[in-house]
Amino acid sequence: MSPSRRAFVQSSMAAVAAPAVARLPVAPSRPLAQIPSFDPWLEIDGAALRWNVDAVTRLTGGRPILAVVKNNAYGLGLAQVGPVLDPLAAIHGFAVVKAEEAMRLRQAGVRKPVLLMGRCEDEEGVELARSGVRLAALGEDAADRLGRVAGRVGRPLGVHLYIDTGMGRMGMPYRAARPWAEALVARPDLRVEGAFTELTENPDFDREQVGHLQALTRGLQVGPLHAASSAAVMHQPEAHLDMVRPGLALYGGYVSRAAQDRGELRPAYRLRARVVRVDRLEAGDGVSYHRRWKATRPTWIAVLPVGHVDGYPSGAVKGAEVLVNGRLFPVVGTVSASHTIIAVGDEPVVRVGDVATLVGPDHPAIHPNVVAERAGYSEYDMFMHLNPTLPRRVV
Ligand SMILES: *Cc1c(COP(=O)(O)O)cnc(C)c1O
Repeated sequence: MSPSRRAFVQSSMAAVAAPAVARLPVAPSRPLAQIPSFDPWLEIDGAALRWNVDAVTRLTGGRPILAVVKNNAYGLGLAQVGPVLDPLAAIHGFAVVKAEEAMRLRQAGVRKPVLLMGRCEDEEGVELARSGVRLAALGEDAADRLGRVAGRVGRPLGVHLYIDTGMGRMGMPYRAARPWAEALVARPDLRVEGAFTELTENPDFDREQVGHLQALTRGLQVGPLHAASSAAVMHQPEAHLDMVRPGLALYGGYVSRAAQDRGELRPAYRLRARVVRVDRLEAGDGVSYHRRWKATRPTWIAVLPVGHVDGYPSGAVKGAEVLVNGRLFPVVGTVSASHTIIAVGDEPVVRVGDVATLVGPDHPAIHPNVVAERAGYSEYDMFMHLNPTLPRRVV
């Protein structure tokens, strides 16, 4: 990272790290975040995060957790999630894919080990290693590359061996990896602290993949083996190995209907906004673009100033509901970039200023998995597409 880039990240992080209400670096000054507002916001539920960590611990027989916090902690916010998870005994450390996110975790005050699962430039690697970030050994050139970084840092570099056992995405292909792994383990300037692979989430093939990782590392001092993302945490005990590496489950999302039916997790965020307009339509009046929805009889509608740019799926009009004052109301018309409209019914039972919850733990109908299903959206995107500029409150 260049000095100017680093200065930018640091100054913008200083702006987000301190108060409970925070915006990400894209909005370095946030003059409006702490006064009452009609802007939508996110609530990050610390108790739900802790609950999900306990659930993962229980499901995996107490395995240490390498918490995947890539993509801004699955949309919830690195600066909010990192400090909640860091002190928990069950959390061994954190894993990210982007170098900058590793640095942001440190700037948010996270002390535990951080693993960068992506490739980095030498210069970034030096900077990351100085901040105690572990790098992944992931290609033919790993020994040279990591050796160069270690030389510049001036002390042994903590690394994890990333083995491709069939995903075909990242890591050293397992068939060629034994001499490569032996050479890395033998180097005095590297300290191999783990070896990992990424499962394809095809149950039978996952078992084969785990077998390859185990066979490849047999007899080598590579530290803990880890492979299990949320799917394997839920469904594949043979893949739990020495440490587990979930993302989605920590935030309360389910990877499958079977996992959802077991109900062990709690969604760890709420997407909220306050009603900005309540009005009565006559029969035949429409709402939003293309008049896709028309009132068949006199009816009340309410407008929420939150839309797909904030991370609420456009497909929500296909059957999602919104919770206001303990009652559910259907989304109608179109979810536009910054607006969502709900049909309130025969009586104006909601008012301007009432708080609406579009997604959250407060009713099964607004659980992120249920909204995703009704909207024809990915459960991962219900989290990862949350707009990083939304104000976030840890509750
Ligand atoms: C994203 C990711 C995970 C976590 O996946 P979930 O399905 O969210 O639990 C684990 N390992 C790697 C390499 C990943 O990229």
